[in-house]
Amino acid sequence: MLIGRIEDARFGDGAELATLDLELGRVATARPPGSVNGAVLNARGRVVLPALVDAHVHLDKAFLLDGGDPGEASLGAAIRAVASARESLGPATVLANARRALELLVKNGVTAARAHVEIDPTVGLDLVHLHRTLQAEFEDRIELELVAFPQRGFDLPRMVELVNEALRSGLPVMGGAPYVDADPRRHLDLVFELAARYATPIDLHLDFTDDPGRSLLAALAERVKAHGMQGHVCIGHVTTLAAMPADAQARALDMLAAAGIALVVLPATDLYLGGHGEPGTRRLAPLERAHARGVHVALANNNLANPFAPFGNGNLLQAAWVAGVTRRASSPAERELLLAAVTVNPARLLGLAAHGPTPGAHAHLTIVDATQRGDVISLAPPVLATLRAGRLVHTIGHAAPHVSEQRAEP
Ligand SMILES: [Zn+2]
Repeated sequence: MLIGRIEDARFGDGAELATLDLELGRVATARPPGSVNGAVLNARGRVVLPALVDAHVHLDKAFLLDGGDPGEASLGAAIRAVASARESLGPATVLANARRALELLVKNGVTAARAHVEIDPTVGLDLVHLHRTLQAEFEDRIELELVAFPQRGFDLPRMVELVNEALRSGLPVMGGAPYVDADPRRHLDLVFELAARYATPIDLHLDFTDDPGRSLLAALAERVKAHGMQGHVCIGHVTTLAAMPADAQARALDMLAAAGIALVVLPATDLYLGGHGEPGTRRLAPLERAHARGVHVALANNNLANPFAPFGNGNLLQAAWVAGVTRRASSPAERELLLAAVTVNPARLLGLAAHGPTPGAHAHLTIVDATQRGDVISLAPPVLATLRAGRLVHTIGHAAPHVSEQRAEP
């Protein structure tokens, strides 16, 4: 349903209720002349946010657990468990699970996501085709950007050829996971070579260990500079940062900032699979310190209900809440950063045009059950409604904002 106006909305500092007029999928500066084209949505004093953006998600291995036992909580075991499930699951199940994941993201207020598409000799490019089907099916609700992702590395036969084929067919981002190959630096070199061939940005799974001695950050920064890729590379996980002594961590963050490498924190997986030393520790990259030193940061879902993240539930506000607890984000500024990390920051990372309750911006909006912006991260409130380009794509039950079918008066 196309919404023409949102009344009784709170945005910005939220001190007073305001009206947003929507026109041609954008937020208009003032009421447009003539009738508003669409219905009126009354937000009933709730907070209207820029819609959530998931910078890193895996749709093709969502819901593999189906309530079952995730098994050993380690990265290697999770990769093996998913690879073995992959062989037994039919494509119809993978498609149904991915569809369920996307529906969940929309319900949770997400209107754009970057999905890592697995490519390996077993599945070939089947999952690329599956994602294209989903892209078309969901295009009115969620914008999907696809990453060519060699989850099991380049050591397997035909991998360079397969990834090359995926990029040649139009996948716009080159992915990678250097830690799965015997020679992680060679993996990095192949990623940069393929990205250069097709002029794509790079999105890596990197440094997913508690051992800073195995960090590839310096090797990556070196390659980013050599290829002139500053501002076009982002890295997910990077739990090594949390395991570094303070001075080494500060140097590493400065190196990322200088190379224009963005950081994406993935709490549901990072906290579950990382930090298993004795005594137990919890590992999450320090996004607030990264931000303070000039690194662009985002926070994303990664996995949903699978051996990488049995508690992954597609809820970005809850992921930000978990990160807030883990990083002790007590100040309003730190909570504001967490909110940016699931809204405008990932949008910028994906190269999307400005969106949110701001005049001139695209009307991709999320209305949450909170009456103060400062509460959004600490309460992780339910999402009441999701709008994409001024169109209502999700709303829930009795607590939802009220939509009037009558056209608004000019
Ligand atoms: Zn991932």
